[in-house]
Amino acid sequence: MTSSINERITTIRASLPPSVRLIAVSKQVPTEVIRSAYNAGIRDFGENRIQEAASKQTELQDLSDITWHFIGHLQSNKAKKAIELFPWIHSVDNLKLAQRLNQLAQDLGVSPQVCLQVKILADSNKSGWSVSELLADLPALNQCKFLQIQGLMTIPPLALSNTEILSVFNSTRKLAKEIQEQSWSHLKMEQLSMGMSGDYQLAVQAGATMVRLGTILFGDRT
Ligand SMILES: *Cc1c(COP(=O)(O)O)cnc(C)c1O
Repeated sequence: MTSSINERITTIRASLPPSVRLIAVSKQVPTEVIRSAYNAGIRDFGENRIQEAASKQTELQDLSDITWHFIGHLQSNKAKKAIELFPWIHSVDNLKLAQRLNQLAQDLGVSPQVCLQVKILADSNKSGWSVSELLADLPALNQCKFLQIQGLMTIPPLALSNTEILSVFNSTRKLAKEIQEQSWSHLKMEQLSMGMSGDYQLAVQAGATMVRLGTILFGDRT
């Protein structure tokens, strides 16, 4: 890419509605490039590996107003570390994990913000609740009082047409609304974490409140 990171960030930010939170996905991106993105105004960064994130956070400690978002599949043996490192976890993908995070949050005296990862269409390559599983687990999720459940996260399956991708995002928004209308005491459904470099415009069109962008900001990962 010929344009600078600064220019790319400025252009993408300007193309998004102001209310949409831009999460810069910095996995595999070196810390000096993360600093450039920070200097261009980014304050939200997404990582998908605990170990990699831990060392980057140490190196970037001086940038104390960064908010770190965990966006990867979380193994339960890394749940504690995830809670210690990330105030936001977008990828809570099953009830056992939610309950484990809830217990750890209580033990550690924190209350992380989380999204529930849902699969609108079946996808064996991805983790997450199916719609029916999620609806069945809502009573138990509502008991996870130490998590701030803020909304849904989704990643459409590969190789869909734009029309199909838009329909996945619209279905996610409608599902969040349906859950909201059930008036759970402890489940907020205000956030929709959806949209990556290839499909974020469709996600925004469908009502995304957070987009997770890597390649389009930082270039191809090797
Ligand atoms: C890598 C990743 C992204 C960013 O993907 P790009 O296509 O590079 O924008 C977003 N969300 C998740 C969950 C990811 O793993």
